[in-house]
Amino acid sequence: MTTLFTRIINGEIPGVFVYKDDTVVAFMDIFPYNPGHVLVVPRQAVDTLDQLDPEVAAQMFRVTRKLCAAIRRSDIPADALKIIVNDGPAAGQEVPHVHLHIQPRLEAERGMRKPPPEMANTEALQAVADKIIAALRE
Ligand code: AMP
Repeated sequence: MTTLFTRIINGEIPGVFVYKDDTVVAFMDIFPYNPGHVLVVPRQAVDTLDQLDPEVAAQMFRVTRKLCAAIRRSDIPADALKIIVNDGPAAGQEVPHVHLHIQPRLEAERGMRKPPPEMANTEALQAVADKIIAALRE
């Protein structure tokens, strides 16, 4: 079965990418918890982390680490970063293609119950993506 994320990786559905290599890609979440919410997605389309080739999983985490550093270097508001894998439907996984969320979090929001995220427009996502891409190059 072709997943939504494989279709984004293949360019059949638009995605705002910040990173690509032979193993892993990263693109902006279309319903960002906060600006700068990135999804790190292996090209290998398996449902859960345990099914992932160990070297692919390692690369997913290496890329996550680089992206975290880039977000912190950028001026995207982020007092902390929340790293999440919803590893199965009961854990809140909606897209059955393993992926890791990087969410900027703000001190002022600590303990706050936020309304569900709204869909972001491509221009807004691209503006934040450009900051991450620039910081990756630093
Ligand atoms: P999960 O609930 O862990 O499976 O997360 C799936 C994520 O994919 C959610 O945060 C969605 O907002 C995000 N998402 C759904 N469709 C798209 C899309 N077309 N482009 C980017 N992100 C998406």
